[in-house]
Amino acid sequence: MKQSTFNKTDLSSSHIDRHRVVIVGGGFGGLCVAKELRRADVNVTLVDRTNHHLFQPLLYQVATGILSEGAIAAPIRDILQRQKNVQVLLGEVQDVDLKTRHITIDTIGFRSEIQYDSLIVAAGAKQSYFGHPEFAQYAPGMKTIDHALELRGRIFGAFEMAEREADPEARRRWLTFVVIGGGPTGVEVAGQLVELSHSIKRNYRNIDPSEARIIILDAGPEMLGSFPEVLRRRTESDLRELGIEIHLGTRVKSVDELGILTDSTDPNLQRIEAATKIWAAGVQASPLGRILAEKAGAELDRAGRVKVEPDCTLPSYPEVFVIGDLMSLQQLPQLAQVATQSGHHVAQTIIRRLAGDRKQRPFRYRDLGSMATISKFRAIGVIGKLQFSGFIAWVMWLVIHLARLAEFKNRLAVLFNWAISFFSNSRPHRVITSQQVFGRLALEAQPELAEVKSSPSSKANS
Ligand SMILES: Cc1cc2nc3c(=O)[nH]c(=O)nc-3n(C[C@H](O)[C@H](O)[C@H](O)COP(=O)(O)OP(=O)(O)OC[C@H]3O[C@@H](n4cnc5c(N)ncnc54)[C@H](O)[C@@H]3O)c2cc1C
Repeated sequence: MKQSTFNKTDLSSSHIDRHRVVIVGGGFGGLCVAKELRRADVNVTLVDRTNHHLFQPLLYQVATGILSEGAIAAPIRDILQRQKNVQVLLGEVQDVDLKTRHITIDTIGFRSEIQYDSLIVAAGAKQSYFGHPEFAQYAPGMKTIDHALELRGRIFGAFEMAEREADPEARRRWLTFVVIGGGPTGVEVAGQLVELSHSIKRNYRNIDPSEARIIILDAGPEMLGSFPEVLRRRTESDLRELGIEIHLGTRVKSVDELGILTDSTDPNLQRIEAATKIWAAGVQASPLGRILAEKAGAELDRAGRVKVEPDCTLPSYPEVFVIGDLMSLQQLPQLAQVATQSGHHVAQTIIRRLAGDRKQRPFRYRDLGSMATISKFRAIGVIGKLQFSGFIAWVMWLVIHLARLAEFKNRLAVLFNWAISFFSNSRPHRVITSQQVFGRLALEAQPELAEVKSSPSSKANS
């Protein structure tokens, strides 16, 4: 193991007396702060453990082969290259010292310290397995590019394995996909799995991918809890029409290589044989929240988010701000628009303070609405009192998402890929590599599968 080195990073060699703003996280919140400070007389250091800003709402399209990972993950350096007062550092923030005002970062074994005058913690959230982290290896979540590529490997790998499987029961298992979580992400990924299975129908000889069984499980009494009832009902009926099984009030008890155990009273659902499981059930705030809360004596909410003051500052530490998915304030949801609006508020607060105005102003959130796609040409949306569904909502979804991809230079490529997927029914990004799992876990659990030497006789030969 490489020995860690420890050095102090001097960030302000050219402007030693400038106010030092350190931002943790280059997601929606952190990036917004950095950009809004472009004309401010400050030195900004943005630290992220990845080199890219990720557009999480479209991760499911990477997992299902519509988009490439580059289409939704833009290099943070590239986005901020023209902004001379910003330095970008790759590294994981491991600790925050609120007394001496510095953070400690680790970049694959190399540790450094960075001093701040203002600190913005926008480290977001990670997948939550509700106290069962062991589920993660069998049911990857959908929070990072790694997750999306892992899922792509498992999804396309499952069809490959089904094609060479002679035993009908095992084949059925490869062709069963369980999505855990009936929120917007669960709905979107399930809808896409149906479309995917139809779009690759003619690629196989021994199986009919469109016979894939796609199941949504949710522990709650209804799906899409944040949407009005009319739209929830509409979505449920659209999903059932697509052939998706929906089982509400069904809690996952355990997950293994070959399936899922649930608490259902229906004997057919107590054990579901499925090689591919996708976790879309919840998120938990970044562990940095706990570190901050312990050091500041602040409270955390149930999702591990830091309860902040109305102006997004950490209690007793007005120079430290917590924003976006890591912030707990007035029960605001974990949404990109909350992250960007809180980022905007914080940047303006810093600018005002530098001008001598120290008045505390509460963060006011403006709800711009929410949307979810169900499948090609079908979506739902709420904007203020207006509700949309069907084709109109789907077109609105396309336009809004394309506009929100403003950070991404290849918006045209996204549009092109959407055109291929939606109008020619094909999937442009189906590459899976040996780094991706490809159903390896299911094979390990059933070694006799790996020992099968010959392929089953094909339909074409029989
Ligand atoms: C699958 C999915 C679909 C979604 N769909 C929608 C949608 O349709 N509409 C919507 O409004 N919202 C949606 N969201 C939610 C939205 O993406 C989040 O609310 C938003 O990303 C939060 O922004 P943030 O800046 O707080 O965190 P993030 O955007 O998650 O950014 C956090 C950043 O911090 C970095 N980081 C974390 N820990 C550390 C550390 N210790 N050190 C250094 N860097 C660190 C991460 O690498 C990341 O870049 C979706 C989320 C997911 C996962």
